Amino acid sequence: MNLKDLLKFIAREDKRLEKYYGHRLDKEKRVLARTVKLTEELGELASEVLAHYCLQRKQKLAKRCKDDLPEEFADVIITALLLAKAMDINIESALEKKIKKVNKRY
Ligand SMILES: [Mg+2]
Repeated sequence: MNLKDLLKFIAREDKRLEKYYGHRLDKEKRVLARTVKLTEELGELASEVLAHYCLQRKQKLAKRCKDDLPEEFADVIITALLLAKAMDINIESALEKKIKKVNKRY
């Protein structure tokens, strides 16, 4: 999968979510909801990282049935892209600019 494919998926998902929640979320609320959702997904990723290194309580580790680490990384990326879309950020351009900036450091 390349970035263009990912952004096509994000555009479809954005439309689907807008249809599902759009009737009760204006743009500002949509941005705030997606910001909160990103925080939730980051928490899930953090939990998986802790579990991956067996740094969770034994009770929590016992409840864990499978390794969700890759899926949680995907959730964070998708949710961040949906937030950027809700704020009309051209993420492709932002990534290109950031990569150039990082490359100049070395
Ligand atoms: Mg998740």
